[in-house]
Amino acid sequence: MPVKTSEKPSKRKFPLNGAADGMEGNPWHEAMRQLDLAARKMNLEPYITERLRHPKRVLTVSVPVRMDDGEVRVFEGYRVQHNLDRGPAKGGIRYHPQVSMDEVKALAFWMTMKCAVMNLPYGGAKGGVVCNPKEMSLAEIERLTRRYTSEISIIIGPDKDIPAPDVNTNEQIMGWMMDTFSMTIGYSAPGVVTGKPVGIGGSLGRREATGRGVFYVTQELANVQGFDLRDAPVAVQGFGNVGMNVAKIFSQHGCRVVGAADVGGGVYNPRGLDVDALIEFSKKHDTISKFPKGERVPTERFVEVPCAILVPAAMENQITRGNAGRIQAKYIVEGANGPTTTEADQMLAKRGILVVPDILANAGGVTVSYFEWVQDIQSFFWDEKDVNAKLKDLMVKSFREVYEVHEKEHANLRLAAFILGLGRLAQAVRIRGLFP
Ligand code: NAD
Repeated sequence: MPVKTSEKPSKRKFPLNGAADGMEGNPWHEAMRQLDLAARKMNLEPYITERLRHPKRVLTVSVPVRMDDGEVRVFEGYRVQHNLDRGPAKGGIRYHPQVSMDEVKALAFWMTMKCAVMNLPYGGAKGGVVCNPKEMSLAEIERLTRRYTSEISIIIGPDKDIPAPDVNTNEQIMGWMMDTFSMTIGYSAPGVVTGKPVGIGGSLGRREATGRGVFYVTQELANVQGFDLRDAPVAVQGFGNVGMNVAKIFSQHGCRVVGAADVGGGVYNPRGLDVDALIEFSKKHDTISKFPKGERVPTERFVEVPCAILVPAAMENQITRGNAGRIQAKYIVEGANGPTTTEADQMLAKRGILVVPDILANAGGVTVSYFEWVQDIQSFFWDEKDVNAKLKDLMVKSFREVYEVHEKEHANLRLAAFILGLGRLAQAVRIRGLFP
């Protein structure tokens, strides 16, 4: 059989919405700038900062896959465990042509921080495969998933590192990962991944959890800022797991969703979009870009639409030095990881735009993943009302903790979240100590 070498992760400039400048847009560079800002503010011991600048474990794997036409393609995959000081590693798996080691390292670092902000007993991890699942059949995606799982199975496990869905991965893919891992060890290990189908140990409420968490955090924001959420026009960039559920849950609570976008383009209607119709349209046409009841907005300009609350829920680097000056929202609640660059953050702060950072705003996903893992370990499953109520408790608690630091330290919300999370992490590092 012929063997075809795969595409390599491109040596490229990182995709950036707006004009690139210097290192702006390299997610690892952005993440390390955020770490440095917080470490300086906290006067953190240099050895702790230094430790966090180096992921604990980095694995690159090659993933040979027989394609439907009989050819073998070799894809490149990664799994990064950034830190394990507070517990086993936790973090999603991304399938995307632009996955790179620097991106996976940054996403793993943000998971470390997110779990610490939420006070979940986890460290951070992330994984990814450089591939374009939009151009692959379901059978090819299954073979890719099973081989990738087998390759990283040397470092994952219910007590070691627990993957979950991220961009272009879903419940079915988590089901295949769980099955492949279980085949290897000879018994069912539902706790090895979260975000699985409910029939094999998944949790009720996990699918909507990230979007629901974004909503709870925005509700708290409205409380402390003194505005009525139902009057506030909301725009959502990204219409996948996170974005679609954000739109659905906000509209179920009577909010006016005025704009939504996916990779193909956006729609905007100041009177409000019919979100149920939008979801139907998206399922039927695989994009919302041609939804008839709104004005079309090009993807790259979508974050600039008039709204009070902007929820970026797509990819990194959407709000940058190039467009931060044109953002019209008053609040940005980050459903995606890393959607705002550090330079954009500073520009937004100067303009009085409040950003609820990813490591708090989108933590609903990992929180219900944690609940799923606990349910798997105990083989005792909760009803959806319990899951949502516990999620709300934790999101509200963490928001309030971050907000308190924000007020006390005169720090923006991202810096405040880092101060809270880094404080917990640093404590764990100190207690565990260095060996020898
Ligand atoms: P997904 O694959 O389900 O959806 C991604 C969506 O983004 C799609 O609608 C796609 O068309 C759109 N998109 C991609 N590039 C875009 C662009 N340039 N402009 C506009 N839209 C674009 O992925 P997801 O799980 O919804 O993840 C979205 C983001 O949320 C990622 O940053 C991810 O890391 C983060 N996140 C996801 C979860 C989760 O539970 N799935 C949890 C926390 C954070």
